[in-house]
Amino acid sequence: MTRPGSEGAPLRVAIVGAGPTGYYAADHLFRQPGLVVEIDMYDRVPTPYGLVRAGVAPDHQKIKSVTASFDKVAANPGFRFYGCVELGRHISVDDLRAHYHMILYTTGAQTDRRMGIPGEDLKNSHPATEFVAWYNGHPAYRDVSFDLSHERAAIVGVGNVAVDVARILSRTPEELATTDIADYALEALRASRVREVYLLGRRGPAQAAFTNPEVKELGELADADVTAIPEEVELDDLSRAAMERAGDRATRKKVDLLQAFAQRPSTGKRRRLILRFLVSPVEILDDGHGAVGGMRLVRNKLYSTDTGTLQPKPTGEFEDLPVGLIFRSVGYRGVSLPGVPFNDQWGVILNEKGRVVDPARKQPVVGEYTAGWIKRGPTGVIGTNKPDAAETVACMMEDLAADRYLRPTEPAREAAERLIRQQQPQCFSYEDWLKLNEVEVRRGAETGRPRVKFTRIEDMLAALGRHSGSRPE
Ligand code: NAP
Repeated sequence: MTRPGSEGAPLRVAIVGAGPTGYYAADHLFRQPGLVVEIDMYDRVPTPYGLVRAGVAPDHQKIKSVTASFDKVAANPGFRFYGCVELGRHISVDDLRAHYHMILYTTGAQTDRRMGIPGEDLKNSHPATEFVAWYNGHPAYRDVSFDLSHERAAIVGVGNVAVDVARILSRTPEELATTDIADYALEALRASRVREVYLLGRRGPAQAAFTNPEVKELGELADADVTAIPEEVELDDLSRAAMERAGDRATRKKVDLLQAFAQRPSTGKRRRLILRFLVSPVEILDDGHGAVGGMRLVRNKLYSTDTGTLQPKPTGEFEDLPVGLIFRSVGYRGVSLPGVPFNDQWGVILNEKGRVVDPARKQPVVGEYTAGWIKRGPTGVIGTNKPDAAETVACMMEDLAADRYLRPTEPAREAAERLIRQQQPQCFSYEDWLKLNEVEVRRGAETGRPRVKFTRIEDMLAALGRHSGSRPE
């Protein structure tokens, strides 16, 4: 049997997950010298781009311009997209094994980490990931509702997602109206009564996960003052010593920015954003009706672990924060895929450099690979996934050269197309997406926005002239 990868016998690859990592991997594959490759990319939602569409904040349009390079990849004649096709529902891993030489899972991290404290599931306590998906118009979250009638909200965690949520809660309707935030979210936020937003870091300012441009932006909001508590942004001896040892200028700048926030006088803006440090939620308090009535915090001190990292230790000193709305922004978490080995503790597919590993045999699973957040966990910015995808593609190429790949019984391109059309007649192609994109951008231009997003699958079908009469199964 001839090794796939040539004209007439292309290497057939399925990529599951149409986020940045899927595109970066496809790009690396298309660029392999002398390799003829056909790529089918699947996603459970109808539209491509993963978190670039459903995660990146609507007021960060510049970051979204990365999609132009994804469209270039998709324009390769060897590329096809199947949106609204879910692994485990419309197709199985066995289906993919029957149609492809290699399968690459790039499904990202689709849920949130838990805090593990009492009251976490009270009404009005939400994972930040849901709020993010909601304001970005993700079809699966458009009907979630958030009670924005409370004056005080807390966001647990001080990563960039927490900062995104804080900004969206604090921006004026006028600021939001120039973005591609979902229409229903714009309306809900227009009526929001939230006046005070707390961001809660369990460690000190030097350990905050957010990055400097994001913190700086918090100080530039049109109608929200930002502040911090002077004692909480003072550096403790351990943090100062660690920063000096590392000669870490970025962290120094971050601490300077936060200390400057603590000195800022209030300018009387309508909203206030309060950055807190060295506090951990220990309980979410019930208001007596099963909803959030407040949050109990414990003050922390930092200590140095055996490995030298600085971690929080509770002091036994408590404080109750009177908030009615809580967003838990303590990190995303990967979700297992049916039939794919998973490490539940870390929330990642079991793998070695991107080769999926069978836990029983402790050997790579032939023909199966992973990249991105579902490979290494939810860290890093969009671009971090480029070298990550390259590492996985290098393994794929090494395995191809060593004849380690699947022997599909149905390798023809048309066979996969037939299967998918049969399993999910309402699937969306890239051509469909390009048409939807045109409509979204046109509707946006009419109101001075980058686009007005489709957020219902039915509306997308209707815009394509494909009235299904029922929601696609
Ligand atoms: P993250 O950067 O990992 O931040 C998670 C935050 O939650 C940290 O402050 C962490 O504190 C805190 N935390 C974790 N467990 C906690 C607990 N039990 N109680 C209290 N606090 C807890 O995650 P993320 O904000 O979800 O962001 C994910 C990735 O996407 C990051 O790499 C981020 O930079 C990236 N991203 C980038 C942008 C951008 O570039 N603008 C926007 C959004 C996201 P500890 O540090 O103490 O663990």
